Amino acid sequence: MLLLRKAIISNSKRFKTNWIQPEGYDTGIKVYNCVTRTKVPLVVANKSCVTMYTCGPTVYDSAHIGHASCYVKLDIIQRILRRYFKLNLVTVMNITDIDDKIINESKNLNKSPIEVARCHEKEYIQDLDQLLVTKPDVLLFDEKFAYKSEDGSVYFDVSQYENYGKLQKIGENTLEVNTGSIKNSPADFALWKAAKPNEPYWDSFFGPGRPGWHIECSALAGNIIGSSVDIHAGGIDLRFPHHENEEAQSCTFFSKPQWVNYWLHTGHLHLRDSVKMSKSLKNTISIQDMLKTVNPVVFRVACLLSHYRRQLQSTIDNKSLIESLSETMTAVDNALQDDFNTPVVIESIHRLMTVTNKMLHTPSTNSNYLNHSVYVTAVMNFVLEIFKVFGVDILSKQINEEVNDYSDIIDVLIKFRQNVRQLGISERNENALKLCDETRDELRNLGVYIKDHGKISSWSR
Ligand SMILES: [Zn+2]
Repeated sequence: MLLLRKAIISNSKRFKTNWIQPEGYDTGIKVYNCVTRTKVPLVVANKSCVTMYTCGPTVYDSAHIGHASCYVKLDIIQRILRRYFKLNLVTVMNITDIDDKIINESKNLNKSPIEVARCHEKEYIQDLDQLLVTKPDVLLFDEKFAYKSEDGSVYFDVSQYENYGKLQKIGENTLEVNTGSIKNSPADFALWKAAKPNEPYWDSFFGPGRPGWHIECSALAGNIIGSSVDIHAGGIDLRFPHHENEEAQSCTFFSKPQWVNYWLHTGHLHLRDSVKMSKSLKNTISIQDMLKTVNPVVFRVACLLSHYRRQLQSTIDNKSLIESLSETMTAVDNALQDDFNTPVVIESIHRLMTVTNKMLHTPSTNSNYLNHSVYVTAVMNFVLEIFKVFGVDILSKQINEEVNDYSDIIDVLIKFRQNVRQLGISERNENALKLCDETRDELRNLGVYIKDHGKISSWSR
C-alpha cells in the first residue's frame, strides 16, 4: 500500500482540472463549482439519499463569529435542500480533536490535549445549539501515494498525483523539489505524523504517531459515505490546501478521478474596513460574546442577506396581489435553484410585503377586492413558511428577547396584521380575523402585547 518516492512527473501532465458531471437525479439547482468556475447543475447520485460532508472545527479554542457565519450559512443551505427541495439529505461532520494547535494549546495551559479538546468540543455543541443550527446526522470524533520521511512521518507525494491544483490554481514553485527538508516538495502534506516526546500517539503500520489533519476528513468521510460524496462543504479558507489534499488522497485511495462531486465554500466574515477576522490577527469575537448582544435570529437574517459565497455584510406596481404572490414564488424558486441565492429571496419577499401593505391601504374600488383576503392569507403563509425553511421562525420564542433589536420586524408584522384585520372586519371574513387572533395570542406568549383600538393596532413589551 505504501508507494515510496518516485521521480517528479513532468509539469505538462500536471494541471488536469476536469470536473466530471455525475449521473443521477438532476435537482434543478445550479451550484457554483470551483473546478469549472461556473455554475453547474446539481446532480445527486440518489435522490433518496444525498450525502453531504462538512469539515468541522479543530477544537483548540472558543469558536468566533467567523465560524458562526460559516455554520449558519451552511445550515441555511441544508435546510433549503431538505425542506424546500425535499431531498433526503444525510449530513456528516467531523470534529478534529488531535492536532498541532490542540497540542500547543495544551502545553500553554498545562493541561492534557484531550482535556482541551473535550472542553471546546462541548462549547462547540452549545454554540451550534444557540445559533439554531441543526446538528449533523453523524458527528465524528475522530495510503498509497506516500513516502516515509527521516523522522518516521508519512507524506503524500503531490508530484505523483496529476490533478493536484484542481480546486485552486497553485504556483509552479509550490511543487519544486525541496532541498534540506524532510519533504520532497513544499506542497507534500502529512498523512501520518510520527510520534514526538510527550505528545499523544497511536501505534500503526507506519510506526507510532497520529493522523494528519487532511487524512482525518478523508478517512472519516470515506468510511461513512464511501467512494463518492455528493456535496462537501466548508469555509473558503479550507479550499486550499485542505480540500485539495482531501480530494487528492481520496481519489488516489479509491482509484477514481473524482471523489467529491460538488464543493461548497462559504465566504469569510469581514469586519469594518474589509479586514478578515482571524485568530492570527487577534481581532476575533467569540460566538458566546456575540450572543450576549445579538439575537441568533438577527444573526441568521444577516447571513441570509448576503450570498453564502460572498462576504457577510419599493416600488409599487399595478399588478394584483395574486400576480405578485405567484411572481414571488417563481422568483424564490429560481433564486434558490440558482446556487442558493438567499439575498434575492429576501429582496423578493420584501417587495411582496411592500406591495401587499400598499394594496391593503388602497380603498376597494372593484369587486375583485373581496377575494384579496384569501391571497393576503396565502401571502402570510408563504412568507412565514419560507422563513421557517431558513430556520427563522418569526413567531417563535427567539423573538422574545431583546425586543429592541426586533422592533422593526415587529412593526412590519403588526402593520401587516392590522391590515389583514381591517380587511377581515370590512369583509366579515372570519378566517382572516381568526388568523389575526392567533397571531396576537402567539405574540403574547412571547411577551409582545398587541392592542386593537378600533381599526388601528399598537404593541408593547
Ligand atoms: Zn476537512
